[in-house]
Amino acid sequence: MTFSLAIVGRPNVGKSTLFNRLVGKRLALVDDQPGVTRDLREGAARLGDLRFTVIDTAGLEEATDESLQGRMRKLTERAVDMADICLFMIDARAGVTPTDEIFAEILRKRAKHVILAANKGEGSAADAGVIEAYALGLGEPIRLSAEHGEGLNDLYSHLMPLADEYAKRAEAEAPETDVTLDEDDPEGPRIPTAKRPLQVAVVGRPNAGKSTLINQIIGEERLLTGPEAGITRDAISLQVNWDGLHMRVFDTAGMRKKARVQEKLEKLSVGDGLRAVKFAEVAVVLLDAAIPFEQQDLRIADLAEREGRAVVVAVNKWDVEQEKQAKLRDLRESFERLLPQLRGAPLVTVSAKTGKGMDRLRAAVEKAHEVWNRRVSTAQLNRWLTGMLEAHPPPAPGGKRIKLRYMTQAKTRPPGFVVMCSHPDKMPDSYTRYLVNGLRVDFDMPGTPIRLYLRSQS
Ligand code: GDP
Ligand code: GDP
Repeated sequence: MTFSLAIVGRPNVGKSTLFNRLVGKRLALVDDQPGVTRDLREGAARLGDLRFTVIDTAGLEEATDESLQGRMRKLTERAVDMADICLFMIDARAGVTPTDEIFAEILRKRAKHVILAANKGEGSAADAGVIEAYALGLGEPIRLSAEHGEGLNDLYSHLMPLADEYAKRAEAEAPETDVTLDEDDPEGPRIPTAKRPLQVAVVGRPNAGKSTLINQIIGEERLLTGPEAGITRDAISLQVNWDGLHMRVFDTAGMRKKARVQEKLEKLSVGDGLRAVKFAEVAVVLLDAAIPFEQQDLRIADLAEREGRAVVVAVNKWDVEQEKQAKLRDLRESFERLLPQLRGAPLVTVSAKTGKGMDRLRAAVEKAHEVWNRRVSTAQLNRWLTGMLEAHPPPAPGGKRIKLRYMTQAKTRPPGFVVMCSHPDKMPDSYTRYLVNGLRVDFDMPGTPIRLYLRSQS
């Protein structure tokens, strides 16, 4: 990522529409109703050959509640401070409104770079508004139609020189710091230092306590729970420092229960939760101790495994449990039975409300991420493979023993191993499982899917 771009402007001008177009995935949620998206979201954007982070902001609520308005404004300011470049959007059909003027003022004071865009610019109905936009004193407006994808070339030519500038600056400031991997390091596997924040999704059924958990991590009321509960309706990402663990958390509020949320929004939100898993490196599957392992929980956990995310299962509301020992035994038993594909994933009990167990959760997340990135040297693997073959030789279907010759780690995130062997098609699943479980135990790799690929040696 070379730079970050925040899209700001009052509600309904088309910010989310542009965000979606740049990100190319339906991470943001669009609706006609003003102010549907009310917090900060980030996405990986591409425009031509440019790659950058786009931040979608919530606009000021134009009507109603004073306190909500103030908080919205604060969030916008925060986004402006966070971003390298601000794209200030107005609605060309509506022309410049008093609220737009307030935004222009904030941007003139705080933003490092401002690009002005007059959206809904398709058709002649927008002509007057585009001219008016000059009067904001923020330079020449780009005439955009986020919905129809018009004006993106113009946006590109505005961004290009700035992108170059940021790329040069980043190069000068940050020399390459990735740890190189030494395949045969006698110290064992080394972990590349992450330059990016760790990407974490907190997923789970509505009411599991996701927002409470994230607020507990952040230590401030950033997610706007409280009287206006339920306004974090889709996948929102926040950068936080969790006791030294630098991460970006995707909140996936699938807040079915909450009032005012229409059926349509609700469906989108659940989908957003699942999408957040795809963005994440570590998925924290949050269960409610009172009703753990419901169908919806199982689906989410399974998806996380199939997507190859590191998984930590956290059982919330542990403060309420009376018979903690017995309950924990039950949970472990259900976990093994209902989610065999997640074998080895850590199960942590927490109270998002009181904060108890949060340190263990943090450690589990960090460890799961480390393991997910783990690389085992080829020498170690082949020594290990020899031992495994001796302890339990592979089967001999039809009298011909399958020969496993050589093994190497082909990928990380999650770890994937290739075994060269004769007749890979005849290998029974039980033997593959034996190897995968062995890898997990012997190389201490909990909480991550392990992929094993068999290749024939010809
Ligand atoms: P936000 O509140 O600023 O994020 O605005 P949205 O992206 O949710 O868009 C608000 C409404 O404007 C939606 O109904 C969009 O379909 C519509 N819209 C967005 N971009 C355009 C555009 O370029 N032209 C027209 N005509 N409508 C647009
Ligand atoms: P979300 O829908 O998953 O975001 O859930 P919320 O964070 O909104 O929490 C749902 C309800 O569970 C709220 O009433 C919370 O106060 C409550 N809750 C969340 N965490 C805990 C916890 O650790 N213990 C108890 N007793 N209640 C909790």
